[in-house]
Amino acid sequence: MEEVGSGLLDRLDAMQRVAASAPGGPLLIVAGPGTGKTRTLTHRIAYLCAELNVFPERCLAITFTRRAAEELRHRLDGLLGPVAEDVTVGTFHSLGLTILRENTAGTGLPDDFRIADDADRTAARAEAGDDPARYTSLLRKQGMVDLDDLLTLPVALLRDDRRLVQRYRDRWQWIFVDEYQDVDAVQYELLRLLSPADGNLCAIGDPDQAIYSFRGADVGYFLRFSQDFTDARLVRLNRNYRSSAPILAAAVQAIAPSSLVRGRRLDPARLDPEAPLVGRYAAASVADEADFVVRTVDELVGGLSHRSLDSGRIDGRSSTLSFSDIAVLYRTDSQAAPIVDALARANVPVQKRSHDRLRDRPGVMAIARELRHVTGVDGALPARVRLAGQSLAERFATPTLDGSHGVRPEDVRTAVDLLTPLARRCGDDLEVFLSQLATGAEVDALDPRAEAVTLLTLHAAKGLEFPVVFLVGTEEGLLPLRWPGTTPDDEAIAEERRLFFVGLTRAQDRLYVSHTARRVRHGSERDCRPSPFLDVIDAGLFERLGDTAGPRRPKDHQLRLI
Ligand code: ATP
Ligand code: MG
Repeated sequence: MEEVGSGLLDRLDAMQRVAASAPGGPLLIVAGPGTGKTRTLTHRIAYLCAELNVFPERCLAITFTRRAAEELRHRLDGLLGPVAEDVTVGTFHSLGLTILRENTAGTGLPDDFRIADDADRTAARAEAGDDPARYTSLLRKQGMVDLDDLLTLPVALLRDDRRLVQRYRDRWQWIFVDEYQDVDAVQYELLRLLSPADGNLCAIGDPDQAIYSFRGADVGYFLRFSQDFTDARLVRLNRNYRSSAPILAAAVQAIAPSSLVRGRRLDPARLDPEAPLVGRYAAASVADEADFVVRTVDELVGGLSHRSLDSGRIDGRSSTLSFSDIAVLYRTDSQAAPIVDALARANVPVQKRSHDRLRDRPGVMAIARELRHVTGVDGALPARVRLAGQSLAERFATPTLDGSHGVRPEDVRTAVDLLTPLARRCGDDLEVFLSQLATGAEVDALDPRAEAVTLLTLHAAKGLEFPVVFLVGTEEGLLPLRWPGTTPDDEAIAEERRLFFVGLTRAQDRLYVSHTARRVRHGSERDCRPSPFLDVIDAGLFERLGDTAGPRRPKDHQLRLI
């Protein structure tokens, strides 16, 4: 293995360095959870720009969520300094929007086209009835596109215009895609158009964390990367920096029956012999399960009654555990309420991550419509309008909206809290701000520093890590999820197992799984069995927790690790 003598790559391990410093051409990085994907991707971009004289403006980094794009941008800034601004970083939708804005002439859209909001789409649907063709033409007549259009229209443009394709290929000669396992058909086609078969396309991801097929993602694109792209180089990252050895061993066993990665390996970088086993609690009821979570949080954080935050200890080190180190994960949103209630009764602060889009929050789109109205963006004025003498953030701080678009005072209060930071991030550019709203910027109520226990669905937990994780409701019917009267097929089960794997691998130091004997599902209380996904994990990796649930130190788990 060739060592790269650059200081930039010093913070990477040997395989991460191989990936970051690989030569041009198609590159697929297959990397499991906790192996440092973002770290590797950002270092590769920085290395290419700083050491190999690649121009930052020739680089395009694509992610799936705005939050992930911001994280990438932030880390690139740290590595490259001001030139990082020249790297194009965005989501697939923002990339599509850029291409559309630069080529409205070819689409028949007006220069100041805008993205339809929910009200616009509902109105168009009501008028169009069942006629999808008609729906589109109604939007077009009003100079609007919808979210799907942001991908399909650029693809259609590029498909028909080889010169345009070449222009973008010249502009973005280096393309990087994070979470490639979640690509869907139209995103894939866009990538194929932007990158030649032998182009400098670097895709990074983990097929075993593909959990979005219900949204049209197809892990098949990941698996056939080397057929699609010429002489693709493959680098695997197997060293996991996140989880203790018992947690990692349990996770690797859990994914084994459905793994899409040949010889799936995850080698623990952390080898603390004192690391606790995975706690397993069999609850009698949902209330009992919630009590178990509260009791354990109490023990970990140390006496909720006096709310001392300094008595928790991890792995025998005298590290402090606080509420913000703890996450409770579940398969369906409906499982959150009993846990939230029980924690609240014990005076434990909680924050629940909402993965909703901002635009779906009450009042937000009304505010956006009103803003358009008062600033003239929805009229004959050009789209790029700044608010005279007032930044967008200031405008929200002192709303003087006239209410003609259905904005209620309580909407303004919610929107000011949520929106002001987004407005700031948009550089006070109203057009960018409205596009962010329309392209589904998530509400990210989650504050990593908040002194609160975090509650999340498994889907929302992707990419995150916490010192302590509870995975509740590990029961047949919930994991894998089953709707009444239906039987999930093999592919659906495999996806549920990947979701389970995502959940287990969020934990750094302590992991607890729990299941209850009875639960109300679909309107009636039923007996429940533990999830069959638990059966494939070696019993020796679990510590069965009884009524006096609490972390105990294992004696012999090292013998049982793979
Ligand atoms: P996921 O698939 O869950 O999104 P990931 O591959 O993106 O995981 P990261 O979140 O980037 O993993 O990294 C996991 C943890 O490992 C982070 O806390 C990161 O700082 C740490 N880490 C990654 N690489 C190294 C390294 N070379 N040395 C030390 N720590 C590292
Ligand atoms: Mg990640």
